[in-house]
Amino acid sequence: MDHKGLKEWSKKAADWAHDYHEGLRDRPVRATLEPGSLRDQLPTSAPEHAEAMETIWEDFTSLVPDAMTHWQHPRFFAYFPANAAPVSMLAEQLVNAMASNALIWQTAPAATEVEQAMMVWLRKALGLPDAFTGTIHDSATTATLSAILTMREAALEWKGLYEGLSAQPRMRVYASGETHSSIDKAVRVAGIGQDNLVKIPVDDDLSMRPDLLAQAIKEDRAAGYLPIGIVLCAGGTSVGAFDKMKECIAIAREEDLPTHIDAAWAGSAMICPEFRELWDGAEGADSIIFNPHKWLGAQFDCAVQFMRNPVDQVRTLGLRPTYLETLGTSEVTNFNEWTVPLGRRFRALKIWFLLRAHGLEDLRQRIRNHVAWSNELYGKIAQLPGIEMITTPRLSLFSFALEAGDEATEKLLQQINDDGRIYLTQTHHKGRLVIRVQVGQFDCTRDDVMMVEKVLKELI
Ligand code: PLP
Repeated sequence: MDHKGLKEWSKKAADWAHDYHEGLRDRPVRATLEPGSLRDQLPTSAPEHAEAMETIWEDFTSLVPDAMTHWQHPRFFAYFPANAAPVSMLAEQLVNAMASNALIWQTAPAATEVEQAMMVWLRKALGLPDAFTGTIHDSATTATLSAILTMREAALEWKGLYEGLSAQPRMRVYASGETHSSIDKAVRVAGIGQDNLVKIPVDDDLSMRPDLLAQAIKEDRAAGYLPIGIVLCAGGTSVGAFDKMKECIAIAREEDLPTHIDAAWAGSAMICPEFRELWDGAEGADSIIFNPHKWLGAQFDCAVQFMRNPVDQVRTLGLRPTYLETLGTSEVTNFNEWTVPLGRRFRALKIWFLLRAHGLEDLRQRIRNHVAWSNELYGKIAQLPGIEMITTPRLSLFSFALEAGDEATEKLLQQINDDGRIYLTQTHHKGRLVIRVQVGQFDCTRDDVMMVEKVLKELI
């Protein structure tokens, strides 16, 4: 295919995309195929000679959409959303057309400068003070890894980068058991070791106990460990737990430790001032991440990290060999020095388009609707026989189980997802298998949300 062919097929793809989205409600939300059944329909090696685009297209339309779980389906209530507002998809098309690699300022000045501007827009939108600046990563996982590597190196006075870790003190990171597994992954990958991620018990509200946090740090110091930082949870994946930022950050300050907040999901809700009490004190953190690709509507992937002092992270992750220098200009920002990968996509464009085409007020209203509908649905499900509500809505996420126990709950979940009208997923909470309901898909309506009650009524 040449660029003339691309123009023709892009139009066809745009028509297909429109029809696909129009028809989503008629599809089962979760993929229904048996594992391996698509792979078995594909040839076992690449063709030696070019195939006609018509044939490739035919195979795509007949094989792929039916073998997908539809994240943009308005009745997707599983995991957390991966919202792609149509205007953010448009921005991605333009990014695709330019196909640049924004590794340094010079290789894509617009990508760097729109990113700088978007970090300011987003910081203000979330109500964070201007002490924060930041960057865009691919995922919350790599953003958290970057923050943990920075904690490690600040604690080791940047010796780990050069000497390795074998001669360094044993380090410790603190978080509650409600934090996402990306924190466990980060301490593994950072060479700190998962056993040195100390999981501090939570109170009845599922918040990390500040008294036990302070105690653990003191005991670890006495035992010869080197505490390096605290990760705080703002909207846990399981059931939406929030730590008490103010109290925990005060302890971090007393102990001279940096803090990193994982608000991958809930961060988007902070564009609504009324929800900010949930992370009251967040402005005192050193690093905060959130995923505009979850609830806000910027097409996957897009993870934002705000930092109070990017200098430490740049010192940890930045390398500038001669071939990455920008000759003949004054000092420029090279965002690869703030993140793990060198090559980077122009992710800021979709944020720019999204925030302009919707405006903050429309995005706030969507999130407010989701929270209100989630609360309404919670009340309805609580009336159904045989159901026990497990956690109340935190923002738009709550959980329930069958009184009959885990086996029955699992069976019900399978029936729900085989039915296909809605999609829910599970977690473990206090030793029980529970079903999570999160309301947050960009295009969902109140009727879509209330479909959960209808399906449950029919199946229990
Ligand atoms: N943190 C939280 C609270 C999450 O819910 C998730 C994913 O759902 C992550 C981190 C990891 O996000 P990512 O897929 O961007 O790495």
